[in-house]
Amino acid sequence: MRFLNDHLRETFGEKVYKLSLSSGCTCPNRDGTVGYGGCSFCSEGGSGEFAAKLAPIGEQIAEAKERVRRKTDASKFIAYFQSYTNTYGDVARLEALYREALAHEEIVALSLGTRPDCLGGDVMEMLTRLAAIKPVWVELGLQTIREETAQRIGRGYPLAVFDDAYRRLKEAGIPVIVHVILNLPGETKGDMLGTVRYLAELVPPPDGIKLQMLQILEGTRMAEEYRAEPWPLMDLEEYAALIAEAVALLPEETVIHRLTGDGPRRLLIAPLWCLDKKHVLNTIRRGLR
Ligand code: SF4
Repeated sequence: MRFLNDHLRETFGEKVYKLSLSSGCTCPNRDGTVGYGGCSFCSEGGSGEFAAKLAPIGEQIAEAKERVRRKTDASKFIAYFQSYTNTYGDVARLEALYREALAHEEIVALSLGTRPDCLGGDVMEMLTRLAAIKPVWVELGLQTIREETAQRIGRGYPLAVFDDAYRRLKEAGIPVIVHVILNLPGETKGDMLGTVRYLAELVPPPDGIKLQMLQILEGTRMAEEYRAEPWPLMDLEEYAALIAEAVALLPEETVIHRLTGDGPRRLLIAPLWCLDKKHVLNTIRRGLR
């Protein structure tokens, strides 16, 4: 079991902090290309509530660094484009933006959150060129391998699309981090562990994984669904026990990037135990021990 902070220290020789930045991209699952309204759990922030407002990238980096430095004397950072689909749009514009971010000396890597159906040949070539400058990670929002759940949440692509993108990224030597949401509607514990097992058995396995408790957020389709017909949500003890089982399935190569949710507090409808992050992490740690 390897955690992100340890991995970053080993790789870069010190603690490295993420700067949440905005690329100005939207998402094909929101603008009508694949679907309207997005995945049912996704709030207006596009699954990344802490990103900077869209501004010239130099300004965004300076502001994000300032925020981090109020708490630490960090000197190395990852340019993290999390919200929406950061490989969706004009490739020349995106490449210029990401090159500019990578040109900052203190930026040691680039991390791009995206969908597996937005990794066409031109995007793959861009990623390969960027990866020749500094490390580039791609974060894929899979959430589940169960097709029925994927359709229910309106993810907008089948598992085969993920498999294909994953293979091409790994062949190109680009590290892949996969996002999984636990407690999606209609899923049993066996389904959730099935998704983690599937990822753990990929050859080669993912470079990283983010496991996250489902957070039902105000203003989402899922909130309406939950209010109309609530499904059981795990309590913290159950979640911690599930995380312990899930982590036990993962190979050593897969770095654990996240074990809990990070949604906006002001929008959280359920489960409310997610609000006490310190308590959540302590309970998960106890479970892992
Ligand atoms: S793909 Fe990501 S940004 Fe797009 S709707 Fe789904 S969660 Fe939101």
